[in-house]
Amino acid sequence: MEQNGCVHHQMWVVLMFRKGNAPWNKGKTGIYSEEYQKKISESRKGEKHWCYGKHLSEETRHKISESKKGSKNPMYHRIFSEQQKKNMSDAHKGLKRSEETCQKLSKALKGRIFTEEHKRNLSGTWFKKGFTPWNKGKEGIKKKPLTEEHKRKLSKAHKGFRHTEESRRKMSISHKGKKMGISNPNWRGGLSVTHYGTEFNTLLKEQIRQRDNYRCRQCFRQQSELFIKTKTGIKPLKLIVHHIDYNKKNNSPKNLISLCPNCHSQTNFKREDWSDYFQERLKEDGVLGDKL
Ligand SMILES: [Zn+2]
Repeated sequence: MEQNGCVHHQMWVVLMFRKGNAPWNKGKTGIYSEEYQKKISESRKGEKHWCYGKHLSEETRHKISESKKGSKNPMYHRIFSEQQKKNMSDAHKGLKRSEETCQKLSKALKGRIFTEEHKRNLSGTWFKKGFTPWNKGKEGIKKKPLTEEHKRKLSKAHKGFRHTEESRRKMSISHKGKKMGISNPNWRGGLSVTHYGTEFNTLLKEQIRQRDNYRCRQCFRQQSELFIKTKTGIKPLKLIVHHIDYNKKNNSPKNLISLCPNCHSQTNFKREDWSDYFQERLKEDGVLGDKL
């Protein structure tokens, strides 16, 4: 804003450059000498600008705002040449905003709600199918790790954030059927459909739970404390009998351990670590001896 002068000035620009109205100096370059241009620029900067420090009424602001919306905006559908884009980019390079300006911007953007039309426009501009993002193929930019401070800021900004019911439903629909089987990052080459050995039946599982005193061997939660919320109400859960070496055909009691669903879900990551850990656990608890 500071660079472009006040809104009055901008309105004047809008009036002058109406669509289809060719300005008198169109295509004429070098009309003003560089020195003269510099002089003009200097004479309009900061306090010297004719509207410096003036405040506009709500009504005037509204009028100006309306006059610049959509197709009325001089920038509407304007196409810049590569050279023009480069010039603009260079002009803003290394631009440092003062602490005050940053705060003002931050305050102005906080809690900003876009209209549906604006959102559509935005998504149309940037996330068009087949649209190449600006950082595509630029290794250095894409892989730049976040600084600790940046992470902290992100974490702070997202704290307490919850998706609305609506967006949860949308995400659920859009993810349905995706990330299944082989496209899931946790895919283990079809092991999960391997048939359990015939001896891994309800009776054996119940024996293991009994051996473990109906407690999760990891967090010691009791089976009687486990529930799941369903649409029809709360249902009791049983402890999961887990294969320590992840081989579902190895149904030796030494390879089986009772876990609550929570602890069991964690065993999908760092599998080798968990195998070692549970074996130690059973040894310590005396299960890997002759007992069972
Ligand atoms: Zn547990």
